[in-house]
Amino acid sequence: MNDVTVLGLGAMGSALARTFLEHGLATTVWNRTAAKADDLVARGARRAGTVADAVAAAPLVVVCLTDHDATEQILEACGDAMAGRTLVDLTTGTPEQARETAQWAGKHGAGHLDGVVQAGPGQIGTPDATLFYSGAPQAFAAHRAALELLGTTHHVGDDAGQAALYDLALLGLWYDTTLAYLHALALVGGAGDVEPFAPFAARQIDHVVQAAPEVAREIRDRAYPRGPASLTEHAPVLEHLVRLRTASNLDTAQLEHVLSLVNRPIAAGHGAEGFTSLIEELAPIIFAA
Ligand code: NDP
Repeated sequence: MNDVTVLGLGAMGSALARTFLEHGLATTVWNRTAAKADDLVARGARRAGTVADAVAAAPLVVVCLTDHDATEQILEACGDAMAGRTLVDLTTGTPEQARETAQWAGKHGAGHLDGVVQAGPGQIGTPDATLFYSGAPQAFAAHRAALELLGTTHHVGDDAGQAALYDLALLGLWYDTTLAYLHALALVGGAGDVEPFAPFAARQIDHVVQAAPEVAREIRDRAYPRGPASLTEHAPVLEHLVRLRTASNLDTAQLEHVLSLVNRPIAAGHGAEGFTSLIEELAPIIFAA
């Protein structure tokens, strides 16, 4: 029996298989387009003719395909071969899709971890690659040594959907933060070159970065100290900004939304609280009193 099987040899799957091989793991590979395995076979991988043969070859089966539909298709093709194996699905997907695959694995007598790669193929096998896993802790413990070869490795929860949740939440953070920066550049751009503004913007974003752990603690404790300013003090600043953006013919929808969020707790008598308290406006179902 081999150490690991990799199903799907696109850019990412090939990088995963190459890394396993470089660390001396006996690796079986399968890809729908068989020729994509040639380079890995030249490096010592064993080529399987079918998905079922590939799955039968090793206790750890890593899947990395385009999307969840592709994963479903190849799992159907592997029949009962997955029984007794641990399926690690590194295909990008949603928390719900991860839970579906976990259920499939359970029904077929297999262990399961969902995984997320936060890196490009060139970073795989280096500490710069961050990988999140979620699912049964026993499955993670059993295969941790092999998975750690791929990069900096975190098991983020027993619920199979947790890794995909982290992935999407982090992507959302990137979108929102970058959009906020673009809004600021659009405002400054009206007055000329935006480049001199960039270092100050970086420092401002860093304030948010530095506060991240404390903000998480405040939300955990549902205690929202004033911080740099109270909601009552934030409101007029936001009003100035809306006016300035309007005068500059810039989009104000997002900022007006922020202002409406700030005004709600002020109206409810919570104006002395800090900005972090807006979490209760963003997620009223979770934070219902
Ligand atoms: P590629 O497009 O390079 O490879 C896709 C792979 O999926 C190929 O092996 C392809 O097979 C296979 N595939 C697609 N549909 C099917 C199917 N119906 N049946 C069997 N095999 C199928 O994608 P990547 O390797 O770049 O990405 C793979 C996963 O990794 C994605 O979910 C992606 O989001 C994730 N990821 C990728 C990153 C990257 O930078 N590349 C970064 C982080 C995550 P064939 O060769 O036959 O077409």
